[in-house]
Amino acid sequence: MERTLVILKPSAVQRALVGKITARFEQKGLQLVGMKMMQLNDNLLNEHYAHLADKPFFNTVKDSMKASPVICCCYKGVDAVSVVRTMTGCTNSRNAVPGTIRGDFSMSGLENIIHTSDSKENAEIELNRFFAPEEIFDYKPASQSFLYSPSEI
Ligand code: ADP
Repeated sequence: MERTLVILKPSAVQRALVGKITARFEQKGLQLVGMKMMQLNDNLLNEHYAHLADKPFFNTVKDSMKASPVICCCYKGVDAVSVVRTMTGCTNSRNAVPGTIRGDFSMSGLENIIHTSDSKENAEIELNRFFAPEEIFDYKPASQSFLYSPSEI
């Protein structure tokens, strides 16, 4: 099973969308294995958004992510990285397909509600960045045999 990082951005926390967003992942059948509120800082954001360092909107993105605490979640499931990414929708929420989280909850390219890991490799790197090993839990969901066939897990 894969694990992936979801960050509920200040736009989700401030707009009181935390319950609605996490409900979607629960309904889908993803297993919540880590969750915490954090106030992000420049050190963490310089690392996390290093791929945007040369963009004119880099500081704007960092300011947006520091505007309030965020909620970091780790979800686990078969193909969890691509499933969560598909549920997220594309970066500019105005172009995101209805039914995706960005498509349903945002009108913005910047204030786009959630961050989600874009590859298996980045998911592992990002989970290590935002969680200590003991903050991610290993437990069998009681519903597991109703979520997957034996051959899928
Ligand atoms: P994603 O979050 O979809 O993986 P990126 O890693 O490219 O996208 O960008 C990280 C974040 O930076 C986006 O989620 C968004 O908040 C912000 N961002 C990206 N592109 C722009 C842009 N052109 N203008 C303003 N903000 C942007």
